[in-house]
Amino acid sequence: MLKYTYIKYIHVLLSSIKFYIMCILCEDRKTSGLQLLNCYNCSFITSIPLIEGLRELYCFDCPAILNIQMIPGLHELYCCNCPSIMSIPHIKELKILVCYNCPSITYIPLIPGLHELNCSYCPSITKIPLIPTLH
Ligand SMILES: [Zn+2]
Repeated sequence: MLKYTYIKYIHVLLSSIKFYIMCILCEDRKTSGLQLLNCYNCSFITSIPLIEGLRELYCFDCPAILNIQMIPGLHELYCCNCPSIMSIPHIKELKILVCYNCPSITYIPLIPGLHELNCSYCPSITKIPLIPTLH
């Protein structure tokens, strides 16, 4: 009985952590020198600022995110299940762009060096530019 209560307690604790999860941007931690940013499942973030030197950006399941700044030098951008995001920044260094299930995105920018693109389940996209380097 005691063990069951304990497990239940841990379960409640874990689910409350999940509910209040925050990314480092919302926690106002330093981002200088950051090469990889993970905002997975953050309910608070509305915009990704320009972080100099950032290479990889992961923002899955961010319901409030509206936009991502133009981040020069960003190589990989993963923004999936973000219902409010309106557009993908035109970052010419981008190699991988994964943005599935973003119903508000209306177009994919023409990024000549893009190698990988996944924009499945984005019903508002009507046209995808012809990118020669895409596999
Ligand atoms: Zn956040």
